[in-house]
Amino acid sequence: MNLTERDLKVIWHPYTQMQTAMPPIGIVRGEGACLYSEDGKEYIDAISSWWVNIHGHAHPYIAAQVAKQLNNLEHVIFAGFTHEPAVELAERLLALLPHNQAKVFYSDNGSTAVEVALKMCLQFWYNKGEQRSKMLAFKNAYHGDTFGAMAVSGRSAFTSAFDQLLFDVEFIDLPTADNIESIKVQISGLKTELACFIFEPLVQGSAGMLMYEANYLDELVLHCKQEGIFTIDDEVFTGFGRTGKNFASDYLQHEPDIMCFSKGLTGGTMALGITTCTQHIYDAFLSDDKLKTLFHGHSFTANPIACAAALASMDLFVDPSTRQNIQRIADSHAAFALQIKDHPRIKTVRQTGTILAMEWNTQNDTSYFNNLRDTLYRFFLAEGIILRPLGNIVYILPPYCITNEQLSYIYGAIQKALQTL
Ligand code: PMP
Repeated sequence: MNLTERDLKVIWHPYTQMQTAMPPIGIVRGEGACLYSEDGKEYIDAISSWWVNIHGHAHPYIAAQVAKQLNNLEHVIFAGFTHEPAVELAERLLALLPHNQAKVFYSDNGSTAVEVALKMCLQFWYNKGEQRSKMLAFKNAYHGDTFGAMAVSGRSAFTSAFDQLLFDVEFIDLPTADNIESIKVQISGLKTELACFIFEPLVQGSAGMLMYEANYLDELVLHCKQEGIFTIDDEVFTGFGRTGKNFASDYLQHEPDIMCFSKGLTGGTMALGITTCTQHIYDAFLSDDKLKTLFHGHSFTANPIACAAALASMDLFVDPSTRQNIQRIADSHAAFALQIKDHPRIKTVRQTGTILAMEWNTQNDTSYFNNLRDTLYRFFLAEGIILRPLGNIVYILPPYCITNEQLSYIYGAIQKALQTL
């Protein structure tokens, strides 16, 4: 039996309707922007394996650093103990972030980084003896699949089985010139109840790569600050260069109170989550009263191997060649967007940094369940490209090491799909 056949007997895959989905493709090796299947096919990973990979697959430097760590210390309980990779990673990450970020809390993935952020805000008010339990989020938001993260995500097919159990969240529109003032009024009206405002900065990934302007987000962050509402900047997707700058928050003048990271944090090598916060938030948990402790932790908190992968990824990330690659991809996307924007099958094209999204015209409305999705997915796989459209929205967000030739090949396949499908 091959990998696919063995898999189908024992495995339940994420976000997959197991009755109708194509059998999974067995991958045996990765190198640079490519993955290789057990039947010898090469695939360009144009979506960075669920947006996590930034330097390419099986990167030799990350692999060597992880191996070194593995031979020294694989894990230690992170309550009562610490270790070099966790301390160094916290120091180096904070040095890259807005200056108000003062403390690092480790967890396992993007959803847990969000859970920790929400708990920090809720318990901040609890510790202060104030009742504030409402949260503010954008319509169509996506912050993860655990219950808290789901609650602050837009109500959708992803959440419908659980809607009754999700806590009270006020959803607002993405800000524009037309609605920014009325959103501010809406926020002010709720200020005594609101614990926090959580947002995906500049790009709502899972919603279909919906993009909005930094200056309006900046106004909302400032407004929340003035109204005493904490802001949570979920950089799980946008962090580590995706939007063209190190972090999407680098496009803002006003600093968020809390930030969440995962995905690109380890270069896509290991699962790791980080929530950072201000000294002000941290201080609200300091007390002789043990009940004011942040009672949150996972067995693998700050796993040394994951931290070593993150440190190795950071070495590569701060190398000037990575910045050049990010710019090269952004320029290349912009040139391709110009070429196809007037194509009759293209409804809209949008870009932020290394993320390029194209909404296709179909008879049906734009939706995650649009029928075109499967046709496009299969078409690109047959071309040797992994693109995983969100319904009728095709997006490219490659590892930064992707070559110009590989990018041209992807653009060519998209042109071909526009002509032939
Ligand atoms: N926040 C954002 C903005 C995300 O895009 C995602 C994942 N796509 C998450 C949180 C959840 O991360 P994870 O899948 O690692 O739980």
